[in-house]
Amino acid sequence: MQPPGNGEGADIARKQLTHEGKNIMAVQIINEKCTGCGLCVNACPLEAISMQDDKAKVAKDKCTECGLCVEECPNEAISLP
Ligand code: SF4
Ligand code: SF4
Repeated sequence: MQPPGNGEGADIARKQLTHEGKNIMAVQIINEKCTGCGLCVNACPLEAISMQDDKAKVAKDKCTECGLCVEECPNEAISLP
């Protein structure tokens, strides 16, 4: 695999590669705490959260762990890894 180059895309790629060695970034929903209020769906600027069976669900390929939804959730149901 080619090492990442320069620029914004490369910075994102580097961050992804340092995420526990996995190329996946995403917050986690704690289903037991999620009441399905939907606030996090609107909070995410990348539309990475959707509702599924009245629980929030994060699209791992969209989330950049920006943390906005974590602050928005009134039930502390979203955690940064
Ligand atoms: S951490 Fe940011 S990008 Fe990820 S789901 Fe929450 S608001 Fe969206
Ligand atoms: S803001 Fe929190 S409680 Fe509301 S849907 Fe999102 S994760 Fe669930």
